[in-house]
Amino acid sequence: MDRRQFLQLSSMAALSLYTSPLRGLQTGGSPARQGPAKKVMILGAGISGLAAGLELLQAGHDVTILEAQLRPGGRVYTLRAPFSDGLYAEAGAGRIPITHTLTLDYVKRFKLELDPFFPQSGADVFLWRGQRQVVPHGHDPDLTHLNVNLTTEERAVGFGGLAKKYLGPLQDKARALPAEAWPLPSLAAWGNISLGDYLRQQRASPDAILYLSQGFESDSLLDFVHDSVSHAVPMLWKIRGGNDRLPHAMADALRDNIRYGAVVERIAQTPTNVEVTYTNAGSHHRLLADRMICTLPFTVLRDIEVRPQWSTNKAFAIQNAYLSPVTRAYAQTKTRFWEADGRNGFATVDQPMEVWSPTYNQPGKRGIVMSYTYEDLAREYSSMSEEARVQRSLDLFEQIHPGMRDNFEGATTWSWLNHPFSKGAFMVTKPGQFRTVVPYLATPEGRIHFAGEHASPWSGWIQGALHSGVRAAREIARGTA
Ligand SMILES: Cc1cc2nc3c(=O)[nH]c(=O)nc-3n(C[C@H](O)[C@H](O)[C@H](O)COP(=O)(O)OP(=O)(O)OC[C@H]3O[C@@H](n4cnc5c(N)ncnc54)[C@H](O)[C@@H]3O)c2cc1C
Repeated sequence: MDRRQFLQLSSMAALSLYTSPLRGLQTGGSPARQGPAKKVMILGAGISGLAAGLELLQAGHDVTILEAQLRPGGRVYTLRAPFSDGLYAEAGAGRIPITHTLTLDYVKRFKLELDPFFPQSGADVFLWRGQRQVVPHGHDPDLTHLNVNLTTEERAVGFGGLAKKYLGPLQDKARALPAEAWPLPSLAAWGNISLGDYLRQQRASPDAILYLSQGFESDSLLDFVHDSVSHAVPMLWKIRGGNDRLPHAMADALRDNIRYGAVVERIAQTPTNVEVTYTNAGSHHRLLADRMICTLPFTVLRDIEVRPQWSTNKAFAIQNAYLSPVTRAYAQTKTRFWEADGRNGFATVDQPMEVWSPTYNQPGKRGIVMSYTYEDLAREYSSMSEEARVQRSLDLFEQIHPGMRDNFEGATTWSWLNHPFSKGAFMVTKPGQFRTVVPYLATPEGRIHFAGEHASPWSGWIQGALHSGVRAAREIARGTA
């Protein structure tokens, strides 16, 4: 299982329902410019900033993107170093659901190819309280030989049936609503309760809650169920060669419009223009424009000086939006020794964590096993030294794949919480925040428009970032805000 990959898959009928609301925002459909070209600055060359830039450029506007790092893509970031033999693994976005038609549109537009994210065969490892089982992919572990504390009803459906039992009817309701109607007002009550409290009300056992929530117990039920609908699909893809090939292709089309190494420090606006101050290699610069699209994660934006101050509601949203911490640890091995007995390298463990082997379909003998750690455990890993993270990860990988230490060549780790230009992985909406935060994420402030995964119906997904970028660009192009 992954964070929210539930074994109950949606039907094709549900898929068509889910894709139809996106038609209005398909790529390549930029509206013709109305009036003179506007000078627009975009803060951030992540997926949302790039999508906005492409859209505005296509409509004939004058676009400048300021990006703090020396690469595009932000949280879509493929690690190629320090691995050998051309191997790679994702630090950020991993999988693209088959229902994310806007993302798949961009993949197609830039002529990129897709591979299944999960191996379609082989066996997964299931590790629970130190007991290990090798289970054919897509099957359930044998509970009679596993030390798990599930109720009698839960044992009857097995781990694979827990999502359907507790969340299936909720997923069906969420799936039936148009995605762009987010935050789904008819389900507003689910926004006031946490996933953990809901599952406890349903008398779910602690092990069932651990398995289902993967650390996201304090997420609102509405946010969790809505997000799980994107995971519960018949196919999840990854981009061949690494997911960062998408932002790199988009950035290539905008290469004359991006200023890399430009760290925004101050934002100001008057009734007639917007201005930023940014540093580049230690020197200060100013940039003026008619309009701005700000895609910075709010965890970063809250530390940037702004004049005049944000409106009260916006300031509250910027200050309180919650970005979940995530860490990853990667171990490179001499061989994919786990394949000798049919294991595909992936595992389910009794921790808020996923274990992947991203090299399962990459050429070569060497392999990578990696962890994807969530919430409190990620916070703990983020506070540890690199060496301590590696040793702790290797201890776990050795339990999952005995022989790991003998085959180990080297490791690296990544913390999104510690990354200065993200300060978290993706937005998660806590109970109550649908009233106090969500309504103010995307609303413009004067000449400043907002994009980014947080300001979209798909927070935590590439599709959300794309959608928000196109939406913000069209606000400006159409002069609707
Ligand atoms: C661990 C993880 C797992 C994920 N898994 C998936 C997945 O499986 N599938 C999926 O579809 N999506 C996934 N996502 C979500 C996806 O990666 C994001 O939704 C998307 O990349 C966000 O794009 P963005 O443009 O909103 O923000 P970002 O990518 O964060 O872009 C913001 C940009 O602003 C720049 N910036 C920050 N501060 C400044 C500054 N002061 N001055 C100038 N520039 C600045 C940053 O460097 C960055 O490039 C995942 C994300 C993470 C972190």
